[in-house]
Amino acid sequence: MRRNPGEDVFHQAVREVAETIIPFTNENPKYRDAQILERMTEPDRVVIFRVTWEDDEGNIRANRAWRVQFNNSIGPYKGGLRFHPDVTLGTLKFLGFEQTFKNSLTGLPMGGAKGGANFNPKGKSDREVMRFCQSLMIELHRHIGEDTDVPAGDIGVGGREISYLFGQYKRLSNRFVGTLTGKGLSFGGSLIRTEATGYGCVYFCENMLNRVGDSVRGKRIAVSGSGNVALYAIEKATELGGIVVTASDSSGTIYDAAGINDEKLEYLKDLKEVRRGRIEEYVQRYPSAQLLSGRPWQVPVDIALPCATQNEIDANDAKMMLANGVRIVCEGANMPTDLEASRLFASQQILFGPAKAANAGGVAVSGLEQSQNALRLSWTREEVDSKLQTIMSEIHAKCVRYGARENGHVDYVAGANIGGFIKVADAMLAYGAV
Ligand code: NDP
Repeated sequence: MRRNPGEDVFHQAVREVAETIIPFTNENPKYRDAQILERMTEPDRVVIFRVTWEDDEGNIRANRAWRVQFNNSIGPYKGGLRFHPDVTLGTLKFLGFEQTFKNSLTGLPMGGAKGGANFNPKGKSDREVMRFCQSLMIELHRHIGEDTDVPAGDIGVGGREISYLFGQYKRLSNRFVGTLTGKGLSFGGSLIRTEATGYGCVYFCENMLNRVGDSVRGKRIAVSGSGNVALYAIEKATELGGIVVTASDSSGTIYDAAGINDEKLEYLKDLKEVRRGRIEEYVQRYPSAQLLSGRPWQVPVDIALPCATQNEIDANDAKMMLANGVRIVCEGANMPTDLEASRLFASQQILFGPAKAANAGGVAVSGLEQSQNALRLSWTREEVDSKLQTIMSEIHAKCVRYGARENGHVDYVAGANIGGFIKVADAMLAYGAV
């Protein structure tokens, strides 16, 4: 705590991992004796820099940006960039720490990193966002590269921002290489990358249900968020026969008891991805839906897919969800469930897919984008989707391998933490004192 003051979410992420890894390293003292977990909690490097840019009125504005290069034991650093006014070093350290385990779980050779800025893209013009991205890249380009560190998107960083960032990277480095992922299809992007995190989360959920002889089909589902992850989780869940009844943004929740069908989802995509509007417009367009204040967890459903942000499910939410009949929680966002809520879910032995495993589909397809860039070719939609499904099934199998309990229940939190830890830990052991 004294070493990282004020980094509450980072402490939370480390505590959650330590609770399952310390018992494991006690049983496997080679990891404990080499202080592997302690070393994994310290990032390799943090770069902090000012981003100065000019707004449309000609005012000079300044933001702070970071790149946290957490661990490159098993491959080049890899992880998204987040633009949000609440971003702090602690946020990015929590995300970079988690990313190290998640990337390991995918089976692909990727280390962990995260970056971003306390910049708020909301209400900014395209030209302002472009100037900000270009200015940020003037510093960031010194620290990244296709074999060094490969950033991608996250909250507030989608296709528009990645395009501006990549255009500037290419100009500064005079190289066309896959140093960023999530690129447009005409300049090295991969099919299915946009959909990958949301689709992957639903594939993981389907794997958890299939293992107990059930499936997503016919289940009522609450999704939070209406950004990249949420929209494609809704799409895949609906395609598999689920009925998604909620979506949200930071201003509120819509509850559509009839389900967000394909036509309504197209409307939502246009509203959030193209027009960048607010969720309440959905209710104006579809008056049978209700606008609720607060989070989506107040409605009766079978499955919850939190896809917005960290700590969006606390103990009170968890109690309400259990009372409302939720039996499956699968995390599309990073650390959306706080520690107390996770413990409540664990005490009820519900199916709980933690973010490290359940939302790894995005970075997995980013890894596939890097492979396609290196090979200078593009795989078809079907090829990428099939690889994504295989990776999500393999991650699920790893969680079962390390998290299965004698009564048949699977502790997916323990399974994901241990499954992600071992590969990184073995590499660190092999390197000696580094
Ligand atoms: P987007 O920016 O596309 O969407 C974020 C959504 O969450 C928006 O609906 C936003 O609402 C809402 N939201 C953000 N912050 C808050 C908040 N403090 N309170 C309530 N709602 C909030 O981001 P993504 O969909 O890309 O990311 C969502 C989550 O998924 C994050 O936790 C991210 O780290 C994680 N993730 C993303 C991956 C990806 O590939 N994009 C990969 C793996 C994980 P509003 O528009 O009002 O801000």
